[in-house]
Amino acid sequence: METVFKDEAIVLRKSLVGSVDLSITVYTKQVGKENIYISKGQIIKSTVITATEPFNWIKGVFRYVKGKLYLQEIDRYRNLSLPISQDIKKFETAFYINRVFNKYVIFPDEKFYILLKKTFYYLSEGYSPEYIKLNFLSKLVYLSGIYPELDTCQICKAKVSLRNIGTVSVERTGVICSKCFGKRNGYGFYSSLKGLKSVSFQNLEKLKLKKGDIESLTSFFEEYLSKNT
Ligand SMILES: [Zn+2]
Repeated sequence: METVFKDEAIVLRKSLVGSVDLSITVYTKQVGKENIYISKGQIIKSTVITATEPFNWIKGVFRYVKGKLYLQEIDRYRNLSLPISQDIKKFETAFYINRVFNKYVIFPDEKFYILLKKTFYYLSEGYSPEYIKLNFLSKLVYLSGIYPELDTCQICKAKVSLRNIGTVSVERTGVICSKCFGKRNGYGFYSSLKGLKSVSFQNLEKLKLKKGDIESLTSFFEEYLSKNT
């Protein structure tokens, strides 16, 4: 049984197989995560080799033969690997994103494909890696349908705003009002979480987060993902 189809993908990983072959792991728009075996990949000289570097975007013809995926033809690709690997901060961020994506995205889903593609595109350009990493995490949470509830107290169901915010709880997946929490707190953090829910990559820096805020929000989402997925 053989199926041929056009698709696009982001390369997640490339590894050597024996002394002549290659294997790449991709996340495709239609069929999600797959391994692709490239026979003689270590010794042939062709655009396939440059195109299949990690973080690249490729578009082409794929072929399933007996449950295995092959890359029949590359129509277009965008070399994101080169600009990312030339900057150590971007390179580390890309590896981090790969690791998180691999851990939490298991099934094929076009919206996660688009998130990954956008993340690497913006990372390869002039955007701050810390901001990209944070937005990737917040959108991963959002697209997973588990973004913290920010308008209703998770204990007493009162409406919460900047006037009565107590805290944002990872365990309760949302806000707790100042009355239930015992004190008023987390003002800036709360506003940032509201902003991050819908901000686009282009407008990220308009949130004007301080370095310390970026770090605490990043840790918050890391903990949030590990406890709520
Ligand atoms: Zn309450």
